Amino acid sequence: MGKRILVTGGAGFLGSNLCEKLLNDGNEVICLDNFFTGNKKNIVHLMNNPYFEVIRHDVTMPYFIEVDEIYNLACPASPIQYQYNAIKTIKTSVMGAINMLGLAKRIRAKILQASTSEVYGDPEVHPQTEEYWGHVNPIGLRSCYDEGKRCAESLFFNYHRQNNVRIKVLRIFNTYGPKMDKEDGRVVSNFIMQALTKKDITIFGDGSQTRSFCYVDDLLDGMVKLMNTGDEVTGPVNAGNPVEFTILQLAEIVIRMTGSSSKIIYEPLPADDPLQRKPDITKAQALLNWEPKIPLEEGLKKTIEYFKTKI
Ligand code: NAD
Ligand code: UDP
Repeated sequence: MGKRILVTGGAGFLGSNLCEKLLNDGNEVICLDNFFTGNKKNIVHLMNNPYFEVIRHDVTMPYFIEVDEIYNLACPASPIQYQYNAIKTIKTSVMGAINMLGLAKRIRAKILQASTSEVYGDPEVHPQTEEYWGHVNPIGLRSCYDEGKRCAESLFFNYHRQNNVRIKVLRIFNTYGPKMDKEDGRVVSNFIMQALTKKDITIFGDGSQTRSFCYVDDLLDGMVKLMNTGDEVTGPVNAGNPVEFTILQLAEIVIRMTGSSSKIIYEPLPADDPLQRKPDITKAQALLNWEPKIPLEEGLKKTIEYFKTKI
């Protein structure tokens, strides 16, 4: 028999793909979202399913429901969007975690936190292992997101230690794929949209900074596997694709794959932009028997097809 599952941030990029996956696996899904960066268009195709419900609600306010599991994804994830209202971003991470952990405690539900590689900041350890405590500027422009997510991790572990809440913390590295918002400002959506519309490709800095890009289906497989582990597994567990690219390499791949005539232009690197990022996924391999299967070009192909329908 399926479970009843709450997905906060369920109308966003990862959340809407997760809702679809959980429904396909035979579960009942409640999608909670305030539609700040999410969109009903991402979930409209699920609305005829009697096992799917949508709740317009802000996670900074308490919410009560009876469910077996909670996936806590509510939080803007693109730098432009999370810096748009920095105070609200911190409130969403911190108060959202308190409200959802309080709910999990009361109803004895399992709860998974969508944490982030940003908890490592601009890392001095490469690749990043879960043991690394990070290198975060606590007062910088990215701190509303980084420190909000770090505080949320602290809340998760304290609810676990003090109240035996069944927690799972997943540290997600850059993930891309269909249902990303074409205007969210992240590098994969920006480059594909710029290439498809023949606009200049904007590289911030000299393009030598690195990221490791994971396709959404791979990431969600890992996320659901972590939720399905026994109560002794709390994480944190890194999830991402360990194949590392420079941002310049990404731009060149996107230009080649789209056959675009776009030119590369260089703009200033935003403050505190991490110079390198690559997950060590040894823990996920051992605990979850998980690793990404979809190489960058295969994932980009599907993502480019998706964005073509959005022009
Ligand atoms: P997204 O912006 O597409 O989705 C976030 C969703 O949360 C949106 O639907 C938004 O409307 C909703 N939301 C925001 N504030 C809310 C609030 N106060 N109350 C209720 N809903 C709210 O981003 P995404 O890429 O799908 O990211 C989902 C989660 O995964 C986020 O928590 C993010 O920090 C985390 N994450 C994502 C990535 C990635 O590469 N995609 C990497 C690391 C972590
Ligand atoms: N970036 C870029 N051009 C863009 C958007 C982003 O060069 O149009 C760079 C950005 O400065 C960063 C990397 O791409 O070094 C990844 O940015 P993104 O916003 O996708 O995510 P981050 O990993 O920084 O949170």
